[in-house]
Order: sequence, then structure tokens, then C-alpha cells
Amino acid sequence: MQSTMQDFPLTITTIMRYGADAFGDVEVSTWTGDGSRRRGYAEIGERAARLAGALRGLGVDGDQRVATFMWNNTEHLEAYLAVPSMGAVLHTLNLRLFPDQLVYIANHAEDYVVIVDGSLIPLLAGVLPQLKTVRHVIVVGEGDTSPLDGAGKELHSYEDLLAAAPPTFDWPEIDERSAAAMCYTSGTTGNPKGVVYSHRSAYLHSMAASTGNAIGLSASDRVLPVVPMFHANAWGLPYAAVMAGAALIMPDRFLQAEPLVRLIETERPTVAGAVPTIWADVLRHTKEHGSDLSSLRLVPCGGSAVPEALMRGFDEIGVRIVQAWGMTETSPVATVAHPPPGSSGEEAWQARISQGRVLAGLEMRIVGDGDVVLPNDGEAVGEVEIRGPWITGAYYKDEDPDKFHDGWLRTGDVGTLSPGGFLTLTDRAKDVIKSGGEWISSVELENHLMAHPDVLEAAVVGVPDDRWQERPLASVVVREGAAVTPERLKEFLTGRVAKWQVPERWTFIEEVPKTSVGKFDKKVLRRRYADGELE
Ligand code: ADP
Repeated sequence: MQSTMQDFPLTITTIMRYGADAFGDVEVSTWTGDGSRRRGYAEIGERAARLAGALRGLGVDGDQRVATFMWNNTEHLEAYLAVPSMGAVLHTLNLRLFPDQLVYIANHAEDYVVIVDGSLIPLLAGVLPQLKTVRHVIVVGEGDTSPLDGAGKELHSYEDLLAAAPPTFDWPEIDERSAAAMCYTSGTTGNPKGVVYSHRSAYLHSMAASTGNAIGLSASDRVLPVVPMFHANAWGLPYAAVMAGAALIMPDRFLQAEPLVRLIETERPTVAGAVPTIWADVLRHTKEHGSDLSSLRLVPCGGSAVPEALMRGFDEIGVRIVQAWGMTETSPVATVAHPPPGSSGEEAWQARISQGRVLAGLEMRIVGDGDVVLPNDGEAVGEVEIRGPWITGAYYKDEDPDKFHDGWLRTGDVGTLSPGGFLTLTDRAKDVIKSGGEWISSVELENHLMAHPDVLEAAVVGVPDDRWQERPLASVVVREGAAVTPERLKEFLTGRVAKWQVPERWTFIEEVPKTSVGKFDKKVLRRRYADGELE
């Protein structure tokens, strides 16, 4: 029997319209360094219509890729809304990638237009001549455009284009399954791969991310996405905020601890999402300066394992971090780690330091050797597989059959699932250290080390070892002036992990190398110590 329900498509257009109509006065503010510029959702809706009209005028009349090379700001949100709603595909370029990766990605996606922030012109100029399919570059805000001359592209001013375009646009009817946006994995694991989100997946992901078991957004919230809009859609926070009628606070290029804290004190966000490295800096700054982060009711954190010490540090200043797990391939939010109601003490902490429970709509399982599905007993360790309406089922123009398994995505993450459905990651498959046939979790060692009061950062990688095949090597960044020795750290680990897991190789470094999205870049460390010897 057929249902009697309307077959109404789930599209970004409806999110945009809803935000503009129901919450027209709710503002998006973009930090300028000493204050904010502001625009309401109604005005943003009109500007999105103008942008769509302008893009149509430049020849965007189908599923052309419109790339953004931008910080988190109001204009980026306008592109987030306009480009998919007009039937084109938004391609967020990660401006922290190495130039050759950027060139690879833009050419692979066949970007036709690039919208660039004026402050990023010098960065784009270096690669622009090699972006073969790009015809138009639209510059937002101020900036000397002369470095872009000579690349053979047509240059436009964003504001001039918008001013010349009509204030309304005849938004087309869109198939909810068609492409809305694309994002390439940041390449922690080899060549970047394109993930193409649909309108439907973005819509459902936004709804799921807004539920109470995730971050519970409403019109009372003020949302600060510190996580870049070029990194897995800023975890879906922009669309979710528009849908919830929550105000958005955009940090633009001011991502250091000091300006971020000033932004938080001034704009008083209730929710702010960023990777652990950023929050670690913010916490340090806050403790040193007695800053006021009290507006924050929830700080979603993920992208890499959130150290317990970081969560406890935030607890001490009355701010709640909640860990979430996901990947570009999962839109990205897939699990969120709220402790079970009524739990406290150790039980609550176990849940909080896990990666969390899978969101409604998704299914997850742990798979062992020979693709055997393992029990959810909190003990059996295997690769995490996931499926659902906002999980990718393929990569864009890139066969990678190893990543997909009977309709499930193989995540490359390794861990356990508890009977209550909590996922605990022990490692990424390629980061697990295999010592004498036993597995050592690099993440566990890092977490323990980073709980040491004198340790700022610690990254552990496996290095070749004649006897054990592989052994852990710890690279540690210590607090200035602290007298930390390998012996002391070994002592600290003893009792916290099995004795045979304690690393014998130690190196003290200035900073752990990071990837373009701020994660520990273990590739670099592995290369540095590839022969198992310390420098
Ligand atoms: P890349 O795969 O290029 O690093 P992503 O940003 O998509 O790009 O990263 C996804 C990966 O980040 C996950 O597969 C997982 O290994 C890691 N990750 C994300 N969130 C967490 C978390 N809360 N705890 C541990 N690892 C995480």
C-alpha cells in the first residue's frame, strides 16, 4: 500500500527559504578582528538569490562545480545556500592543502568558478594558472587582485556581481538525490578522494545533528563553527544552524586562541565546534588570562580523539566538551558521546571519552578478520563499518572497492562497540602498532601522555624494530621550562598501560606536525623515523 504522504523533496533550498522566512532577523556575524559585521537570514536569502543570478550570468546553468576558497564568513554561507539551491555543486576547497593537492582536487572536480576571499588571493594566485577548468574567479571583499592577472581567468568582484543581479531568483525544483556539494578527504590516507553530498543527505544530516542526542540546536543558540567550512562542511553546523534559526558567529581568518577567546567573550556563542588542538590552545589561553567562556553550553569536539585531560580542563572552567566522531565520508557527524542519563563518575567518563553512540538513522558494526561481524560486547576489536542516508557509497570518479563492503563503508578506524552502542576507537587501522603480534593503540598512549601536566602534545607512531617487528616511538612536546625525561614519562605510563606497551624510544620536539585540518600528521613522523632510529 502506498502512503498518503506528499513526496516533498528534502533540499537545501527549503533550508534556505525556511531560515529566511521564519528567522529573517536572526543574524550571522563575521568577526573582523575588532568587531563583527552582521546580516540577517532574510538579507542573506536575498543575497543568495543575487549570487545565483550572477552565477547564472557567468554560465552556471547545470551541475557545474562552484568552488569556494574561503574562511568561515557570511559570504561563504551565501555560497553554501545559493550554489546547491540553483542546481549547481558547491566544492569547498581546503586552503591549507599543499599546492599540488589543491591543483589535483580542483582539476579532478572540474571546478568552473572559484569564489575567493580577498585575504586569500596570494594563496590562490600560486595555483590558479594550473586550474585547467576554472573560467571565473569571484573576489569577496578587499584585496589586491593583481596576483591573479595573467592566469587567463575572468575576474569579478563579488559585491559588484551581487549589486547588478536581481534580488530574486527562480529557484528550480531539485531532485533531492542530486549532488549539492562536494568535499575531498584531507588526504591523511593518500590521494584526496571526492565525496559528493546530496541535498537529501545534507538535509537529513542537519536534522540529525540538531537532535538532542547530538548537539540539540534551537533558535536560542548562537553557533560558532571554528571548524572550517572547507573541512567536512564545518561538521554541518552552518546548515543545521539555519534550519534551527540559531544565530551564526563566523570567525573568518581569526583562528588563533587569543582572537577566538575575544570573539567568544564578545559574541557569546552557546555552541562552538573545533578540533582538539584548537581547544587545547583556547584552554591554555583562558587559564592564563582568566577569560570568560561561560556563554558556551556545549563544545562539540572531534576530528581526532579528544584527550580526557582536555575535557577535564574544560569541566574545571564550567564548559562541557562533547566528543563526536565522523569523517568526510559520513557528512561528517555519525556518533556523539553523551553519557547515559543518570550515569556519573567513572561510568559517565567512560562514555564521554568514547567516540559515542551512533545517531538515529545510521547503523554501525565492527568487523574482524575475514569480514566476520564481531559482537557488540565492548571487547572485540575490529574495523568500524557504517551505513546510512548520509554515508557515502562511493568516491567521485575514483574506484576504491576496498573501502566499501556489502553496502557498508569501511571507515579505516579500529575499535569496539559496547552493548549500549558506544563506539570506542583504539586507533586508525594504519596507526595501530603491531608489536610482536600484539596490537598497541597509539591513541591510548597519546591520551595518557597528554594527561601528564608537563606534556602539551604527544604523538606515538610505530617504527620498525628487529625483534618485535614494530615498536612505539613517542614524540613529545613539553611545557616550557619543564624538566621532563623519558624515564619520568615511562614511570608515568607504568600502571596506566601494560608494561610491554611502554615506548622505549622517545623524542622531544617543538611541535607535532599537523595535517591541513589540524590533526597530528603521523605520516611525517613515520617518515622521519622510518629506520627506527632517533635523530
Ligand atoms: P582524513 O581522513 O583525511 O583525516 P577526515 O577529516 O574525514 O579526513 O577524518 C576522519 C577521521 O578522523 C576518522 O576516520 C577518524 O580516524 C578521525 N576522527 C574523527 N573524529 C574522531 C574522534 N572523535 N576520535 C578519534 N578519531 C576521530
